[in-house]
Amino acid sequence: MTEFVHTHVHSSYSLGDATTKIPDLVHRAKELNMGALALTDHGTMAGAVEFYKECKKAGIKPILGCEMYMAWKSAREPKSLENPTGHLILLAKDETGYRNLCALLEWANRFGFHYDPRIDLEILSKHSRGLVATTSCVGGPLGKAVLGWKVYDHKLKERVSQPALGEEALEQTLGQLRDLFEKDSFFLEVQNHKMANHSGLTDRQFDDYKWLRDAQTEVAKAALRAGRRLGIPLVGVNDCHYLSRDMMDTRQVILAVGDKQLLPNGFEGEFRDWKAKTEHEEEVVREITGEMYLKSPEEMLWPCTGTSSPSFSGTHSRSPRCAR
Ligand SMILES: [Zn+2]
Ligand SMILES: [Zn+2]
Repeated sequence: MTEFVHTHVHSSYSLGDATTKIPDLVHRAKELNMGALALTDHGTMAGAVEFYKECKKAGIKPILGCEMYMAWKSAREPKSLENPTGHLILLAKDETGYRNLCALLEWANRFGFHYDPRIDLEILSKHSRGLVATTSCVGGPLGKAVLGWKVYDHKLKERVSQPALGEEALEQTLGQLRDLFEKDSFFLEVQNHKMANHSGLTDRQFDDYKWLRDAQTEVAKAALRAGRRLGIPLVGVNDCHYLSRDMMDTRQVILAVGDKQLLPNGFEGEFRDWKAKTEHEEEVVREITGEMYLKSPEEMLWPCTGTSSPSFSGTHSRSPRCAR
């Protein structure tokens, strides 16, 4: 059995963002000889029961989790430039953690809903026991602080920007989050989706996705610096949205449906050979990396060199252990 465990995984319950059916996910994890697998759908645990049962059937340890929507300041206030919505991965270590996840999601839907069911630091501080947290994608607290963010202003009818926050504010944000959780239960996520061209893209197409490469590199560097200074470990993660690389086109189609966008003229089913011509079309293909699939432990080696991992009671290891 491999030591590596995927701790950031979306299923088709991440509506409009992922395509993988839970039985297929578990089956693939089994094929890859994994002893445990997490499920972290966006703002929901609707797949938790199905996932739990499938994992038990397959002899895999299920790690129940959620990629939460989190308001920067208060979930009781609407989303705005000062109060943007970010992502945060929460994983249950035990039954207390599971119950806290359920409580947080209930609260988010009843009191924190604005476009998405959101939590905030205040409610999280009351329900953080039994949970492991990781800082999620470039839209998480680490990524937002490092890269800044954009929010659509309904009055101005345009997107407004917040520049990066600077090292001091970044460390304050991360320290605040770390202190909410139990010892050894907060990690800085490092994702690496387009550092090398594995996807059959031409050099020019590859270059078009430079922004993601640059963003993830910048976030990873900041994670290393902040992690060292604050004593917070890193965790190497793939943000899994489909089962295998050849399923990335399907995800692009459902993203376009979710964004209420027409697929671009001239698109004939193969995104990797297709070039965006307008800003609108760029939006449609913004996340083509071909890397967001359930990778094997070997494929995860280089993206997460030097990182450590969350540990879960009952799993056979502290994993993913990717340091060479
Ligand atoms: Zn995310
Ligand atoms: Zn995600």
